[in-house]
Amino acid sequence: MEKATVVVIGGGATGVGILRDLSMRGVDTLLVEKCDLVNGASSRYHGLLHSGGRYAVKDQEAAKECIIENQILRKIGKSCVETTGGMFVRLNIDDPDYEEAWVKGCAESGIEAKPITLEEAFRLEPLLSKNVQSAYLVPDAAIDGFRMSWQNVESAKRYGGRSLTYREVIGIEQANGELKGVKVRNTITGEEEIIECEVAINAAGGWAGKVAALAGLEVGVQPDKGTLLAFNQRITNHVVNRLHKSSDGDIFVPHGSITILGTSSMSIPDAEDTSTSRAEVENLLSIGEKTFEHLRDYRMLRAFAGSRPLYIPPGGAVGRSASRGFAIVDHEEDGLKGMFTIVGGKFTTYRLMAEKMADKVCAKLGNTEKCRTAEEPLVPEVSEEAKKAARKYFPAYGTNLAATRLGPERFAKVVKRLEEAPEKRELVCECENVTLAEFEEIAQEESCYQINDIRRRTRVGMGTCQGNFCALRSAGLFAKYGKHERAAETLTRMKEFLQGRWKGIRPVLVGRTLRETQMTRALYELSFHVNGGKKE
Ligand SMILES: Cc1cc2nc3c(=O)[nH]c(=O)nc-3n(C[C@H](O)[C@H](O)[C@H](O)COP(=O)(O)OP(=O)(O)OC[C@H]3O[C@@H](n4cnc5c(N)ncnc54)[C@H](O)[C@@H]3O)c2cc1C
Repeated sequence: MEKATVVVIGGGATGVGILRDLSMRGVDTLLVEKCDLVNGASSRYHGLLHSGGRYAVKDQEAAKECIIENQILRKIGKSCVETTGGMFVRLNIDDPDYEEAWVKGCAESGIEAKPITLEEAFRLEPLLSKNVQSAYLVPDAAIDGFRMSWQNVESAKRYGGRSLTYREVIGIEQANGELKGVKVRNTITGEEEIIECEVAINAAGGWAGKVAALAGLEVGVQPDKGTLLAFNQRITNHVVNRLHKSSDGDIFVPHGSITILGTSSMSIPDAEDTSTSRAEVENLLSIGEKTFEHLRDYRMLRAFAGSRPLYIPPGGAVGRSASRGFAIVDHEEDGLKGMFTIVGGKFTTYRLMAEKMADKVCAKLGNTEKCRTAEEPLVPEVSEEAKKAARKYFPAYGTNLAATRLGPERFAKVVKRLEEAPEKRELVCECENVTLAEFEEIAQEESCYQINDIRRRTRVGMGTCQGNFCALRSAGLFAKYGKHERAAETLTRMKEFLQGRWKGIRPVLVGRTLRETQMTRALYELSFHVNGGKKE
């Protein structure tokens, strides 16, 4: 039977940050996540490492937190951050008074906003609309949510931190006003067990209200859905924000070879709802093309959506007007000692949220260790010598990609596999340069129950072809190398994987995307009776 001093509920950025922080302070901590890690908003977002510019007018406290955390995350998570820089642009249809307030807000929040000439703006971002009236550079960046969250777990492990995926919390055990443990169900096998603990931290994001309700508690959490579009090209070099009062479709974030455009804001009853529609796609395109006039010429890869866990205090605003700040609730005040909820905030501020949460828990446990998460890098970098020695096994850009994905220990294991069997340099996924050796290494990890778990770690199926060519190979290889029994159900696993990919493709089926998808659908339907049009 599992036991821990602290159980963290939820494996998003907030939960993994708390796991790392507490583990580094020597607290015996176990994280439980109902799906794979990063199942919620922490992978269903723009991936913008905010400079704080977005909040400089409306919420200067959030803006100040962002700029400080922005600098820290660049330092501790180098391989997760793409230092693109950011540009705010005001269009002829945007309010000039807002620009004045924004410049003042940035100065007051400690965000460097450097005005540039229009000539310079078009040199840096040649595809920008000619309706741009003014432009500023800010220290925004792009951040990989999957990788940063995984690296937090890797770091926690080194300090004894543990995590269990596919374990859903279905009950909170309590007696005489004190927490005794959490009841979890293994969502793969259906088995249930009680994990004894002194403290439980509800870090379940948009689901935090539901988890609190398991203990008979009420927490004002409003899941707020935002839809995003991924384009197959790098349309911008910088993160480009519209300089106006925040609205839909006004942020473009470049990541590797793609660009993400977002987002919208819609209150929804259940954080599980990640559906997207053609109408939402059209809304984003029609606003987005004001900043980049030729937006519709670019091939869309997919649409996806996530739920912001907005904290709504009694009588507080919802939707875009709701605060993007975070809240920590000590439920001892509600009559349950040992239970906490942390909710709200942003990916950019996850480390700070974890620090504040860990401070409170440590105070209760009588632990006086200080937070060290801002100083110590998440994982060590793969050395240049190791990369140089391994270069012969990888395709042209593949060594660096594999090294940043894998970190030093796993990279060394993959290289060993390649040394022993050089034919394993064959690519499973050409778009993301994933070798057979890397796939095999990850597939054999205890926490990989399905192809999607491998996808989240390796990015297999996430590139230009969206799994069209690698789904079949991945399914076959998973059956061969997968650790769990589920791997044997090859066709079912392939359908699951493809349906997941097609879910995001359906709302963007126009032009070239439609033609390519029809071809793929025909291939899979004729060979395996897998139909992209309806759920199998
Ligand atoms: C569309 C959109 C765009 C955004 N863009 C940005 C951005 O560019 N930059 C930025 O900094 N922030 C951004 N955000 C905000 C940011 O994504 C979130 O604030 C942050 O990721 C929340 O992390 P979290 O860990 O609190 O929640 P989540 O990441 O949602 O994690 C909660 C986890 O709890 C798990 N869980 C739920 N119930 C249970 C249970 N019963 N048992 C076990 N596990 C459970 C879920 O499966 C999930 O994995 C955006 C959000 C959205 C929705």
